Amino acid sequence: MPFNNECASNKVCVRPKEPSDLDYVLLTHLDCDHANGLRAVKDAKHILCAAEELACAKKNGLIRYQKKWWQDVALRTIEWNGAEGPAGKSFDLFGDGSVVMVNIPGHCDGLCAVKLTNASGRFVLLFGDGGYATKSWKEMITSGISLDKRMQRKLLEWIREQSLDPDCVESLATHDPDIKPHIIEL
Ligand SMILES: [Zn+2]
Repeated sequence: MPFNNECASNKVCVRPKEPSDLDYVLLTHLDCDHANGLRAVKDAKHILCAAEELACAKKNGLIRYQKKWWQDVALRTIEWNGAEGPAGKSFDLFGDGSVVMVNIPGHCDGLCAVKLTNASGRFVLLFGDGGYATKSWKEMITSGISLDKRMQRKLLEWIREQSLDPDCVESLATHDPDIKPHIIEL
């Protein structure tokens, strides 16, 4: 989230001014294009990723992962506390269903989608690299980088189901060229 955005409506919004104002940074995974800016927010109060992802990153260095991106960062791993999603592993951050990390492995072991749900059950799904664009779940196109194609197809079905849910406000991939930066008020 940019630090200088204004709210689109007159609602009262609390926006962080400094990285140290951030309570949580949730990492979908540790690939180069998702983690090499991590040190810019290293003063955030909590920086979380899946244990499977950190283990995978330590094992497969060089191109996809480099530990210099997170070695000076207080990166903490989550413990699954739910069974949501295609792999039956999820982490409910506050215990109220408002912010849930859902494991969607395939592109990498610890890949997570993040599901943000309001009190009325309306939700936004950020599905990271579970597919590179909306077209991915509409046409069942798995990402080019894959550790498990079968699992990737399964997770695309889950993303499709979530995206077509009437309560889904938006469903966003990380790399979709058709998505313009915008603010979602949930
Ligand atoms: Zn990516």
